[in-house]
Amino acid sequence: MQWQGEDLAREDLAKIEGKVAIVTGGASGIGKACALRLAEEGARVLITDIQDELGGHSAESINSTERVQRAGGQAQFLTHDVTDEGRWQQIIEHAESALGGVHILVNNAGIGLGGSILEFSLADWQRQQAVNLDGVFLGVKSAIPAMIRSGYGSIINMSSVAGLKGAANLAAYNATKGGVRLFTKGVALECAQNRWPVRVNSVHPGVIDTPIWTKVNPEYLQPGENAVNLDEMALSVPVGRVGNPHDIANGVLFLASEESAYMTGTELVIDGGISA
Ligand code: NAP
Repeated sequence: MQWQGEDLAREDLAKIEGKVAIVTGGASGIGKACALRLAEEGARVLITDIQDELGGHSAESINSTERVQRAGGQAQFLTHDVTDEGRWQQIIEHAESALGGVHILVNNAGIGLGGSILEFSLADWQRQQAVNLDGVFLGVKSAIPAMIRSGYGSIINMSSVAGLKGAANLAAYNATKGGVRLFTKGVALECAQNRWPVRVNSVHPGVIDTPIWTKVNPEYLQPGENAVNLDEMALSVPVGRVGNPHDIANGVLFLASEESAYMTGTELVIDGGISA
């Protein structure tokens, strides 16, 4: 099988027009921005999430965007819990039969549970592992055969700076995101060794302004706080601001397209300098 990237005219490199992308957790935050950015470049995007109403709205707003319409992109929404293996099969089948294949998968759905390891429950540990790590495993396993059939594959796994370095009261989250980072590299090498036309990379956002910060569990907050203060967090970011979801979506677009044809098993850090 031909390795993707061979014989490509330079002007074709950036194009993802007509490609089919699945974005998990696409009803909100980073996933929503990724779905929009890919559709703006002409991709047919299948947004999936457990948040039905928000997911439907995301698809509608993307479809009504002029830039998306001009590019010939589109979005659809399907309810999908990434921890459900049977549902993954249905999602892939739908992408192939209704949209024409699977070329791009953004394994983005995730939750962030914090708190002291001394009080962290096994149930929370397992729930977070299930969404953040099992969900990525199931997505990768389900999508690769469809990508081989489609002749092009780029899988982008959403890790975090918390997958590169530890943080107090975030050890369980660190474990999931560090797992995503190394799982990505192992699968990337398996795809390369087999000459499957599938690249696999991870993205490592820093502090990004999304609704995830409003869902932080109370055990993680300082006494007297009822939400994480992003303005305060911005003070510790070298560039002086927290990121916005589009900062991440632009990196995801690059990894999705053939502009990154020689990149696999790597980690794209988008963090305003936090990990520098
Ligand atoms: P977000 O706004 O909370 O969006 C995540 C979406 O995923 C939500 O709609 C969420 O629904 C959904 N979801 C949760 N569990 C799911 C499941 N089992 N199956 C399918 N969908 C599920 O969060 P975000 O900030 O955009 O985060 C997206 C990804 O980026 C996550 O993997 C996160 O760990 C990572 N990340 C975020 C930041 C940041 O600063 N925002 C930094 C580094 C990495 P619910 O509302 O029901 O949970």
